[in-house]
Amino acid sequence: MTFDHDLKASVRTIPDYPKPGIMFRDITTLLADARAFRRAVDQLVHPWAGNKIDKVAGMEARGFILGGAVAHQLSAGFVPIRKKGKLPHTTVRIAYSLEYGIDEMEMHVDAVAPGERVILVDDLIATGGTAEGAVKLLRQIGANVIAACFIIDLPELGGAAKLRAMDVPVRTLMTFE
Ligand code: 5GP
Repeated sequence: MTFDHDLKASVRTIPDYPKPGIMFRDITTLLADARAFRRAVDQLVHPWAGNKIDKVAGMEARGFILGGAVAHQLSAGFVPIRKKGKLPHTTVRIAYSLEYGIDEMEMHVDAVAPGERVILVDDLIATGGTAEGAVKLLRQIGANVIAACFIIDLPELGGAAKLRAMDVPVRTLMTFE
């Protein structure tokens, strides 16, 4: 039995999904692999061991899976950031850019108290449009966004650089060109 697990090898690549020319990085294989899942969560939380983090915010839908595990590890609360129309209480809403067009995301207006320290979690950062929208929403309700964490960075698409330009430290565990 080996404990030297190659995290990157646990990500499956699906060519031409969801449309021709796209190489989709599928993390369901990582999540289904007990050691890889545990290792990814451990590596995501490592920089904040011993630091006070109040909330982990996760983006629908894969950010919920990882964000819940990260929140548990850090003894923090979890805040879902959802596509519009899914949350039952009063929300704040923001439009964000997708590859083609725009969509809107929401969070509950009272999900984070002003000044609370929040980490944002998602599986992958590409252009950064989704994470940028989430940071703006969190800041709108007064959150102190400590960092954003992703398993996968696609650096050529510039998302991590975009977040750093907004003064958000970014942690990623692997890159794909
Ligand atoms: P961005 O807004 O940074 O351009 O895109 C990131 C968002 O799209 C994330 O919520 C992520 O889950 C999703 N996404 C885009 N491409 C991929 C991919 O190849 N694999 C996975 N797992 N998610 C992707």
